[in-house]
Amino acid sequence: MSDSASAPASLDFIREMIAADVSAQRNDGWVITRFPPEPNGCLHIGHAKSICLNFGLALENAPNARCHLRFDDTNPTKEEVEYVDSIKQDVKWLGFDWGDHLYYASDYFEKLYGFAVNLIKKGLAYVDDQTPEQMRANRGTLTAPGTASPYRERSVEENLDLFARMRAGEFKEGERVLRARIDMASPNMNMRDPAIYRILRAHHHRTGDSWCIYPMYDYAHPLSDALESITHSLCTLEFEHHRPLYEWLIANVDGLPGQPYQREFARLSLTYTVMSKRKLLRLVKDGLVSGWDDPRMPTISGIRRRGYTPAAIRNFCKTIGLTKYPSLTDLGLLEHTVREDLNQHAQRVYAVLRPVKVVLTNYPEDQIEQIELVNNPENEADGKRLVPLSRELYIDADDFMEVPSQGFHRLVPGGEVRLKYAFCIICQEVIKDAAGNITELRCTYDEATRHGAKPVGRPKVKGTIHWVSAAQAMDVEVRLYDKLFSVEQPDEAAGDDGDFTQFMNPHSLEIVTAKIEPSIDSAKPGAHYQFERVGYFFTDPVDSQPGRLVFNRTVQLKDGFVKAK
Ligand code: ATP
Ligand code: MG
Repeated sequence: MSDSASAPASLDFIREMIAADVSAQRNDGWVITRFPPEPNGCLHIGHAKSICLNFGLALENAPNARCHLRFDDTNPTKEEVEYVDSIKQDVKWLGFDWGDHLYYASDYFEKLYGFAVNLIKKGLAYVDDQTPEQMRANRGTLTAPGTASPYRERSVEENLDLFARMRAGEFKEGERVLRARIDMASPNMNMRDPAIYRILRAHHHRTGDSWCIYPMYDYAHPLSDALESITHSLCTLEFEHHRPLYEWLIANVDGLPGQPYQREFARLSLTYTVMSKRKLLRLVKDGLVSGWDDPRMPTISGIRRRGYTPAAIRNFCKTIGLTKYPSLTDLGLLEHTVREDLNQHAQRVYAVLRPVKVVLTNYPEDQIEQIELVNNPENEADGKRLVPLSRELYIDADDFMEVPSQGFHRLVPGGEVRLKYAFCIICQEVIKDAAGNITELRCTYDEATRHGAKPVGRPKVKGTIHWVSAAQAMDVEVRLYDKLFSVEQPDEAAGDDGDFTQFMNPHSLEIVTAKIEPSIDSAKPGAHYQFERVGYFFTDPVDSQPGRLVFNRTVQLKDGFVKAK
């Protein structure tokens, strides 16, 4: 890994805890972590935080360390194989490797069933015949204890028999559940005899139709951790109230190979973003975006297609660090990190997004000169290229104002501006069509202003703009992406019952046909560029074809909207 992600990070509370465990030789000094996605959607940038933490810890603690990729596939109704493949691809793209340690919770179904039988035999689990409504009503509230189920005192024999018949498919969905027998008066609702097995007649993407009972997440997760000898089970804060149940299961199930423990850290929340698979799925299903990999999506596949880099994501996760308290991270920080990385690697080109023709009336008609430009000022090894310049050019409409606003230092009628790396030009005439649209700017250039020389006898030139030579320019489709939501916290703005999609930014995508310098002819899909003075762009890996490139705007060059807030 080229960035600093493989170097030890400064010690946050998780790393401090792990360092203490290692030095105390807990688990013989081994650190075994896991990333446990549920394959019910594509991963998002929040998951990247968890991936960088778990896989990062394995790298930092090598050689006595590793990180497992485990699919928590205990809920067959929502899970799909395509998500499994996409999750694997995303973890790899981020630069991490699970080696031989790819697991599925569904591989443990038989063992998990055995553990449940073990709990029943110890009098620590029972089959409950109450309806879901009765169970909910008897659960109590935060201030009142729950009421014991009339089936709580069933004999071990009866429970064993009923549980076996649940597995055999003798009962209907919802007719019975297996519950852990813990404490109906616990102040922690998760400890009030939580359901650990339910009947579900659903086809599973790996186990097919062999099961009609499925373990609950809170049951399967700690026991899967223990089966894999995970040492540190790191999850987000919302699981803090589930920790006692995690510990209860690890303490009470017999014959577990490992004794993991769970600790929680704050999840990543970003401004202008929704970060729940359920909501992202809604955007996909309702056609509000083009798919999971729409470049406006906060999914790993979306940001990859937009042109974010794995190194930038890893650096971002390192920058935000780990805390025990929820917080909101500015999307601007993520964009800043992306910009910093691309600045090192992206080749520079000249592109004009909203072209206006400029004719240099005193420039020889048939002349084409080649200007030598540096490909990347940050890296000399990237070399130089030749960019043609001739009598007819394009400049960006934003770089000309017929009636200039205050402080506008670029081209205006009668005014002078520098064409970057070329010479200064003066706008002599503005040509318009019948409708009043500007069709051409007729300008003169000053040969004496090449190589940065100042105009003689005229005011100092304050603006420098980019350009492309008209005859050689190529037309390319450019997709100008912006943030997907127009409010900082779409979830909050919508409230519990509201619809977050009403806060989508109607201007999150604008498509333009840009004029770009001819060197781009050799570009391949999936390459990063800096359009000078404009931003970073990525040749779309899906829609680009040889000779017909599509560019996605990765990020603007300047931190536009953060300042505009
Ligand atoms: P979502 O709420 O988006 O559906 P999830 O937590 O249900 O996410 P899982 O597939 O269960 O998704 O998550 C896998 C791992 O990623 C879990 O350990 C979870 O804690 C972690 N994770 C999920 N979202 C975030 C986030 N925003 N920040 C950090 N870690 C996250
Ligand atoms: Mg989940």
